[in-house]
Amino acid sequence: MALSDVMKNLPTEPGVYLFKDSSQKVLYVGKASNLRTRVRSYMVPGGDGRIQIPALIDRSEDIDVVITKSPKDALLLENELIKKYKPPFNVRLRDDKQYLSLRLDPREQWPRLTKVRSFSKDGAQYFGPYTSSQSMREALSTLRKIFPLRSCSDPVLRDYQRRGRPCIEYEMKRCVGPCCDLVSKERYDQLVAGTKLFLRGNSQELIKRLTDRMQSASSDRRYEEAAQVRDQIGAIETTVQRQQIVSEKFINRDIFGLSRVGEEASLQVLQVRDGRMVGAEEYGVSGVKIDNGSAMASFIGQYYAGKEPASIPEEVLSSNEPFESEDISGLLTEKAARRVRVRYPKRGKLKELTDLSVRNASLALGVRLEKRQSIDDALNEIQKKLGLKNYPHTIECYDISTLNGSLPVGSKVVFKEGNPLKSEYRRYKIRDAKGGDDLACLREVLERRILRIESDPMPDLLMVDGGRGQVAVSSSVLADALLTQDHIGIAKEQDSESRSPRVKRGGGLKKEKIFVPGRSNPIFLFPSSRGLLLLQRVRDEAHRFAIEYQRDLRSKINLVSILEELPGIGPVKRKKLIGSFGSLKQVRQASLSNLASVSGISEVDAKVVYEFFNRSD
Ligand code: SF4
Repeated sequence: MALSDVMKNLPTEPGVYLFKDSSQKVLYVGKASNLRTRVRSYMVPGGDGRIQIPALIDRSEDIDVVITKSPKDALLLENELIKKYKPPFNVRLRDDKQYLSLRLDPREQWPRLTKVRSFSKDGAQYFGPYTSSQSMREALSTLRKIFPLRSCSDPVLRDYQRRGRPCIEYEMKRCVGPCCDLVSKERYDQLVAGTKLFLRGNSQELIKRLTDRMQSASSDRRYEEAAQVRDQIGAIETTVQRQQIVSEKFINRDIFGLSRVGEEASLQVLQVRDGRMVGAEEYGVSGVKIDNGSAMASFIGQYYAGKEPASIPEEVLSSNEPFESEDISGLLTEKAARRVRVRYPKRGKLKELTDLSVRNASLALGVRLEKRQSIDDALNEIQKKLGLKNYPHTIECYDISTLNGSLPVGSKVVFKEGNPLKSEYRRYKIRDAKGGDDLACLREVLERRILRIESDPMPDLLMVDGGRGQVAVSSSVLADALLTQDHIGIAKEQDSESRSPRVKRGGGLKKEKIFVPGRSNPIFLFPSSRGLLLLQRVRDEAHRFAIEYQRDLRSKINLVSILEELPGIGPVKRKKLIGSFGSLKQVRQASLSNLASVSGISEVDAKVVYEFFNRSD
């Protein structure tokens, strides 16, 4: 059916629309308060004036629509679908997983703030997101001084409850000690309410409430409480004074600034509460194929989609006129259940604010482009120096970890354009290969990875932690699967191999050897070259990920039975150890010499057992 035929039957209700190509790939997702009017506007010659529309219409073969109950639901659904389909004509603001937020669950008896990486509709309240863990730490450290809520988990709180004394946090005045009834429920709830107001930036309201409380405590002769509240007010005022005054009006505003170079963009959001700058967030976006007005409209929609209504300000200022800004204003007004204005100032004080936001965005974009350039240089160097067929946009690296041959595991890490892609990391518990045989373990992991090739295409470059032997295994596994993938191995040069005076001994800087199939000698890249640093980073990440899994398994398994699986320790020696120390716990805590002193346990056995329980990596 031609697009024009699809148009005829479109509903006039609110909802989202999806433009698709001939293979049903989603090219663009949009929202509308009236689907028919909105989608038809694309069909007038030249589209609706936005530069990307003719190209979108050219490639589109079909349109799907989903009706929603309200424009607000359309905004939420649009955001979800953009995240799901990653359409090339949309811009995606962020991957929520990368951003930290603070979570507070008021339904808990003694609510506390916890760090989280995603929002969910679980009845809890979320604050943030924070773009760096440092900005979150700063917020938490200020908060703990002013509103000393507990920071411990429920089991820790119960533990101190049983002991009948609070932990050091109480001594340091960073917790009011609910574990030992050192604070009333009413007082604690007041601290929770203050925390919420502070995190939302409502300092005026907060100071007003605290002043009322201080006065009533004072007139009721509760002088200690009045003094505590006075100190809280002082600390809040000091924090607020440090924040830059950007407006004489006590209006809450978010100020969006966009900076762009080609398809790379940076979006800055400055948060102004009660006229003061209380926060700033930066979002980097790649592959922006649409005009700035559409991009800004999409950014603003996605930015508020996951936010609580209370955190939407009265005014949104934008450095670029957002496409259909009235629609956005309507959506935000509906979501916040009060009027929200979206403005595009062209002059005066408000324009100065959006300029400030743009300057911040440009700064961040400059830093990112520079970093991108250095990653580009690194990837180019890797391709050229190692003679790869393909530019290594995606690199997968594999590592095997065992502890003296027990509990062998494998790891896969993925780097895309030089950056880790954690959602694609995989852990492998070795099923068939023997623990002590690293090459057999690697073979098993690679064979299992290739079995998933349909749903998970092979990378541009496959890398293994290891030398000639490991590369021979990957060559053989790839050849068996008729794959001609670029693949390499990376291994540290052993002390005995090095004749270079630059190499420091004893754990210092060692050269890295890169093994490429078909070459008898390894390749050495310059130690500080960008290419080598990147390859090392990928390998170290695979190593870290494998060890983490190994450690995780070790903490979960039945250690009594694993004792028998350690090389050289069978059921007889296990019994001797348990019998001699009384319990597994005692075996675990025993020193190396105590283990070796058990009759029938050699020094080698003792070392195997000792390392199993004590080696941190
Ligand atoms: S004082 Fe008690 S409630 Fe507070 S952090 Fe310590 S254990 Fe938790």
